[in-house]
Amino acid sequence: MSSISNNDAHERARKLIALAGPDALSASDRLSDQPLSNAWLAAHLATCASCRAFAENAAEMVRGLRTIPIAAERSLVSTTQIKVRRRALELQHHRERVWLVSISCAAVTLCALLSAAILWHGFEWLGSRAHLASSVWQVGFLVFCMMPALVAAILLLAKDRHLADHSGSYEG
Ligand SMILES: [Zn+2]
Repeated sequence: MSSISNNDAHERARKLIALAGPDALSASDRLSDQPLSNAWLAAHLATCASCRAFAENAAEMVRGLRTIPIAAERSLVSTTQIKVRRRALELQHHRERVWLVSISCAAVTLCALLSAAILWHGFEWLGSRAHLASSVWQVGFLVFCMMPALVAAILLLAKDRHLADHSGSYEG
């Protein structure tokens, strides 16, 4: 009678081990939905050497099977790390470029303001030397400042005219 109940107990223990997997021995809190079965299994394993051996074999087999996907995961992890690192470098380079461009813009603006101030004082000095009305040298300053834009506009217009003339001559 007692041997039959013992066989039942071994059967139950091995079923629990098979269902729980290798973590049943180490992490008992993972089976929170079966705390009573888990406690019973722990108590049985403490007293039964054959079931303990079964549990250890099962755990070892499952661990052996788990090394295969782990190897695949490692290569995936390394390629992901490489991609993340490359993306971080790209972002860093982009930030450096943006920084350089903003520094250049600030420098150009500062130079333009400085040269405008110097030119303003130069025109003021020339105006006072030539005894001109302030409105006259101020207009001169504005014309001088707009000169590059005016020259560029005239050149572009001339180029357009030139191209138009050329296409006209090809047509005619
Ligand atoms: Zn047993």
